[in-house]
Amino acid sequence: MQFETIAVHSGHEVDGSTGAVAEPLNLSVTFERDADGAYRRGYFYSSKGNPNRNALERAFADLEHGNVGIAFASGCAAISAVLRTLKPGDHVLVPDDVFQGTIRILREVLARWGITHSMVDMTHAQSVQRAFQPNTRMIWVETLSNPLLKITDLELIADLARRQRAISVVDNTFVTPVFQHPLESGIDLVVHATTKYAGGHSDVLGGLVVAPDASSITDEIRRIQQLEGAVPSPFDCWLVHRGLRTLSCRMRSHAENALCVARTLEQHPLIETVHYPGLQSHPQHALAKRQLCGGFGGIVSIQVKGSPQLATKICANVRIFRSATSFGGAESLIQHQASSPTHGTNTGLAENLLRLSVGLEHPHDLIADLEQAIRAASATESFT
Ligand SMILES: *Cc1c(COP(=O)(O)O)cnc(C)c1O
Repeated sequence: MQFETIAVHSGHEVDGSTGAVAEPLNLSVTFERDADGAYRRGYFYSSKGNPNRNALERAFADLEHGNVGIAFASGCAAISAVLRTLKPGDHVLVPDDVFQGTIRILREVLARWGITHSMVDMTHAQSVQRAFQPNTRMIWVETLSNPLLKITDLELIADLARRQRAISVVDNTFVTPVFQHPLESGIDLVVHATTKYAGGHSDVLGGLVVAPDASSITDEIRRIQQLEGAVPSPFDCWLVHRGLRTLSCRMRSHAENALCVARTLEQHPLIETVHYPGLQSHPQHALAKRQLCGGFGGIVSIQVKGSPQLATKICANVRIFRSATSFGGAESLIQHQASSPTHGTNTGLAENLLRLSVGLEHPHDLIADLEQAIRAASATESFT
């Protein structure tokens, strides 16, 4: 079956007791035991599993071409669970522009438990190879990367990891399984912040881990999920599961709109650089075309000309875009990365960089909004 069909149907059975076609929301924390003490209906306590969470886990695993899905209360809870399969003394390689939540978990929590890490340019195979230590047990990749949308060759990383007997993990939040299937490239685990595109409406936090098959590592992650209780509520699962049904249409629209915005801004006299893997000018456009299937995602990063204040002034002048963090919702967002609280520890981010989460509005309205915001911002420039 194709992605769209799986997305609409996986985990969505007609309810046997009522005939309801839409998935019922099941809030029960506890489930009745059979007379002989068994739990034949499959549930006994909600943190161990409940109908809405199980349905979401199955659907997401199907969409990522895996067999095991493990849901968490947020992307960071999922990331933390994966990292905590490591033991004291183990070492992990992460990208030099890794998501801030991931690096902060490593620096501020796991370092105390004796898990070390190195940051490395994942787009450069020799740098990755050189960074391996005898105790390297995991290699963490984000592709596309944030905010410069760099691309890492997944087959290469999977191969390097296998040869070093390290677990390879891909955070697939930026492009989703609509455009990229890391497990097909031999990657061991995929993680997601379903908060972003999977939920798709900026109204639910969630995280997911997917693996090709059950293994000692997925057992460990499942144990962390069930014992520690950082689980999504049934309603959160219901929202993300509903989001998956429209994921493909939404991602295609996000990507079409993003390409349109990127191409137009590339011609703008006050824009210095546009970072988008769908542009010919992207240094890894060829790899992007090979690795991504059907689209290049919905995020565009731009660097503006002029004073460092111009970028923040553009954020102050948008009318359709919202100046806010996050991405993946229907509404377009603009973020000045260097001054954002979520990027407090990421040094070296250009002051003139803006990240756009291109939403589902009409692209011409989005372009007009950015053009008027740039105009308004540069008009105030000349007076100061
Ligand atoms: C947002 C995000 C996360 C974390 O997700 P939360 O649900 O906010 O904890 C992890 N990875 C990437 C790439 C993200 O963009």
